[in-house]
Amino acid sequence: MLEFRNISHAYGQTPSIYDINLTVNNGEVVSLLGPSGCGKSTILRLAAGLEAPLAGEIYLDGKLIASADHMTPAEDRGIGLVFQDYALFPHMSVYDNIVYSLKGNKTQNLSSGEIDTKIRDALNHVDLAEYAEAMPHELSGGQQQRVALARALAPEPKLILLDEPYSGLDSRLRERIRDDMLHILKELNTSVLMVTHDSEEAMFMSDQIMVMRRGYIEQSGRPIDLYCRPQNPFVAEFFGEVNRYDGKVTGQTFKTPFGDFPIESANDGQPASLVIRHEGLMVHNDSTPNAEIVETRLLGRYTFIHLSMGLDNGEELHLHARIPGLNMFAPGDQVALAIDESQAFIFPSH
Ligand code: ADP
Repeated sequence: MLEFRNISHAYGQTPSIYDINLTVNNGEVVSLLGPSGCGKSTILRLAAGLEAPLAGEIYLDGKLIASADHMTPAEDRGIGLVFQDYALFPHMSVYDNIVYSLKGNKTQNLSSGEIDTKIRDALNHVDLAEYAEAMPHELSGGQQQRVALARALAPEPKLILLDEPYSGLDSRLRERIRDDMLHILKELNTSVLMVTHDSEEAMFMSDQIMVMRRGYIEQSGRPIDLYCRPQNPFVAEFFGEVNRYDGKVTGQTFKTPFGDFPIESANDGQPASLVIRHEGLMVHNDSTPNAEIVETRLLGRYTFIHLSMGLDNGEELHLHARIPGLNMFAPGDQVALAIDESQAFIFPSH
């Protein structure tokens, strides 16, 4: 549906993204995930037609829409936008806000009856049929966000671009709205490219995720690929908090306080890191202790535990574990730590 081929872009003399390749297949939700400033919004702006590429080509449904010397105007692309700052017009009713979105080239020949049907359909999809005459200020943040989605969906776009669409909502509402949105988008088989800096949100919404850093794509794949097979510490850390042990490779082995691991891709003496997710650290009190509980905190769904582990060189390694529900551990308890190898990763450093 949407394809970026070797796209680079700069704001004036300052490069923003480099040689980006990405594909959004029909009916697929693809997320761009990464810290602030890594180039996510720039990619959306290029797809929308608000920026032009320096090099490369962008195709929509097989047709060239942008390259260094071709730009299909934004309004002719058939792309819906739900941007963070893409606010509703405050002086227009919900209905009129959506009418406005139907004034594009593709829909200008519609009769007023056809326009009315499209608006009612769009409002039905977002479960706001009875709010057609309401003014934006009479709606909650979540309802306004759903109107923005209805407005984007009404012209039946080939693709929708969502830029941090839930960032203005509080956490409870955010979970509900993104659930609603996902159902609507999947029901309509809409292709979506969205931007987020929240890994859980990306995993919740997406068929494919592209993790970005400093204008490059670090790794892309299905949520499970990124969570279970991160290619570097940056990607691992983006999908949850981690503990880290840094050391050096001996021969073809990385010796760590949690055991020795073979590491074929590194040379003798090369630095390496063991990255363990908080939930990948297992705390037992029925085998030989190798660590001490420093502090425990019940955080509702899980308990957060601070631990201290003595290393052979006399230093202390401070670790965090996250275990489900309540537990009986107390500060000072001697415990045995082990790692769940599916939640721990070894990376040679360069
Ligand atoms: P993200 O969406 O990941 O936060 P952006 O795509 O907004 O990142 O920005 C990528 C880079 O381009 C950043 O370094 C940012 O400072 C820069 N940038 C973004 N918009 C502009 C602009 N209008 N003018 C100049 N630089 C910009």
